[in-house]
Amino acid sequence: MSYTVIYWNRATTDVYDVIRSQAPPGWTLLTLEGESKEGWLGQLRDADFMIVADWGITEETLAAAPKLCMVQHQGVGHERIDKAALKAREIPLALCPAGTTVGVAEHTILLILAVYKRLVVADTKLRQGTWLQWGLRSTSFELAGKTLGLVGFGRIGQAVAKRAQAFDAQIIYHDPYLKQRPAAATWDAKEVPFADLLRQSDIVSLHVPMTDETRRFMSLPRFKQMKRSAILINTSRGAIVDELALIQALETKTIAGAGLDVFEQEPIKADNPLLRMDNVVLTPHIAAGTVDALREKMRSVFANLQRFVRGEPIHDRVV
Ligand code: NAD
Repeated sequence: MSYTVIYWNRATTDVYDVIRSQAPPGWTLLTLEGESKEGWLGQLRDADFMIVADWGITEETLAAAPKLCMVQHQGVGHERIDKAALKAREIPLALCPAGTTVGVAEHTILLILAVYKRLVVADTKLRQGTWLQWGLRSTSFELAGKTLGLVGFGRIGQAVAKRAQAFDAQIIYHDPYLKQRPAAATWDAKEVPFADLLRQSDIVSLHVPMTDETRRFMSLPRFKQMKRSAILINTSRGAIVDELALIQALETKTIAGAGLDVFEQEPIKADNPLLRMDNVVLTPHIAAGTVDALREKMRSVFANLQRFVRGEPIHDRVV
């Protein structure tokens, strides 16, 4: 049987090639042409399946896709997808943790080390002809011996813990909704109340989903509970941090630095004060964005769609 899958996100031709390379023989992958929303909606007409990355899915999207039988997310953050509208049409939504967890966990460690070792400043100054062999010494740190506080201890939080332990960091976490608590012996990680995590951590790293409860979770009062020497890492979602409060906390040295992959507004605006701060390392929402991850994701995505076709239970279903 042949099926039509639409990729409901814009990407580059090389990315489409990787996606297409993992599709089952005979299946058609539609990619969005043109620049107008009406045009994109028109291209949904023949789609049996939809793969989505960070675009939203609304009632309007679904109304334009009469044949749609399943939506497969290529990642895990599904706050922009109207789950009630999917449910009303009995269209299942599945997530794809494969290829996400490792990339984001590695990126979290990268941001911690980059902020701690002043990597961007060292590299930028060196290219400009300034050799900062001694100049950064009093403001550079090691991860070994530091306390890493993980807010959210799901797939990514635990993968960060595993990697940080290899750097000899102490791990504490806060996750009141964790379904299965990992054995303490496996992780050597201690669960603490959120206020204690903020007070004790040298690094606060966010790994919670975007929900009504977590929106602007990191506010000015919470930054004030952190150590002045502490840094914030956000690889989850921009809106989990009150960005103006973060800017204020960094400007007033309430906290010492930040490593950010996600922002309240993406792409970040050219006048965002974060762009001028040298104690901040910024990346453009690329934590899971490797070709290794994309290949693994697409293998997993198409395997799940094929499960659906065979009438088997699909993996990581949320609707
Ligand atoms: P997960 O569902 O495995 O883990 C999330 C954890 O957060 C769960 O254990 C849950 O109990 C916990 N949690 C929920 N609300 C909480 C709260 N109020 N306080 C404390 N803990 C809470 O998800 P995951 O795979 O680890 O992904 C985490 C998030 O990372 C995703 O929701 C997504 O937003 C983000 N993400 C970002 C990128 C990127 O490219 N930067 C890529 C993938 C995922």
